[in-house]
Amino acid sequence: MLDLVLRNGRIRGRAEPVDIGIRGGLIAEIQPRISSSAPHEDLGGRLILPGFCDTHVHLDKACLLNRCGHDHGGLADAIAAVSRLKADFTCEDVYARGARCLDRAITQGTSHMRTHVELDPAVGLRSFEAILSLKQDYAWAIDLNICVFPQEGLFNRPGTEALLVSALKQGADVLGGCPYTDTRPDDHVARIFDLAQRFDVDLDFHLDFDLDPNWMHLDAVMRETERRGWEGRVAVGHATKLSALSTDALAQIAVRLEQSGVAVTTLPATDLYLMGRAHDGNVPRGVTPVHRLQAQGVTCSIATNNVLNPFTPFGDLSLLRMANLYANVCHAGPSDFGSVLDLVTESPARLMRLPNYGIAKGAAADLIVLDAQDEVEAIAALPDPLKGYKRGQPTFVRETARLLAPSSVKQAALRKGSSSFG
Ligand SMILES: [Zn+2]
Repeated sequence: MLDLVLRNGRIRGRAEPVDIGIRGGLIAEIQPRISSSAPHEDLGGRLILPGFCDTHVHLDKACLLNRCGHDHGGLADAIAAVSRLKADFTCEDVYARGARCLDRAITQGTSHMRTHVELDPAVGLRSFEAILSLKQDYAWAIDLNICVFPQEGLFNRPGTEALLVSALKQGADVLGGCPYTDTRPDDHVARIFDLAQRFDVDLDFHLDFDLDPNWMHLDAVMRETERRGWEGRVAVGHATKLSALSTDALAQIAVRLEQSGVAVTTLPATDLYLMGRAHDGNVPRGVTPVHRLQAQGVTCSIATNNVLNPFTPFGDLSLLRMANLYANVCHAGPSDFGSVLDLVTESPARLMRLPNYGIAKGAAADLIVLDAQDEVEAIAALPDPLKGYKRGQPTFVRETARLLAPSSVKQAALRKGSSSFG
């Protein structure tokens, strides 16, 4: 006996629509036609995807635009601006701003999110505690994976390491590093790996966030990953230095990334906003072309990063929009759109090592319905996410907009053979 049947939906890789039967929060059947008396919904031939996976979002410092009036850009300025505000963060404040983002992310179709939380002596564990509450309160709609990290450095900010240890003991899922803000970047990388081994957690670094490709912390991260046997458990975010490489040099690094099992996340909105500020004319894009790394077997993702703050004064938590932005900036054409869609679904699920993800028998019924027919339209046309389900339970619904044309216009259109005015 099924709990729900989603009828007449399209899934990637199949031309004809299918029915999806859900039982106990899992996908129980995928067939051209399921005969069942269970409750059902007709999807009108629209595209069904697994919920989007956003591997990199800063909920703790989101929605700060009305507090700082920051509009001059630059990475160091953004870090300094948030650093000043952070001392006044309270649990309630972080919770409220994070909840505003999660409400938006869920209705944009995101069902899994890794959120990166800053720890340092100024903010203590307040942000982390708020995010722990959000994880619990939103579990009905989204799985939050918490990555704690020292945004302002480790060795130059005494007391930070003790806070990281404390958070890892209290349920942080993943540890991050940020060597570019530390006075001892190589020691920073090594110490972060030490902690990861001690607590048996995956790693997700903020890394190589400039456009000078002549040196990279990525080399040290790949070396340590192999030395510690952490292959498949390490990701790096930004890595904008990679965007400055020639095609051949990028292909060579891709081989090493694939061998060492280090994943790469690009964050188009922030990277576009903060990179290339020193250039006068011919401003570089600063966005790493991860679909090219992915073609060589590297696990990659496209993610949101910052929302409405000094790092990125934009954002609506839509991963589909981020994928579309990425495709525009990185010259990804229609034949690439399938792999661009992978970069916000299957690939980040692999990066986060999610069990039971995808559209397959036995997978979790974490599903969304887009107002589109196929993957090309999904990336090209920014269709609305119309419905979502978490473990088979509905999480949101969106009404499609309707034109309110006068009846005389509708009749004239019908006479001309158009059905556009419905
Ligand atoms: Zn980040």
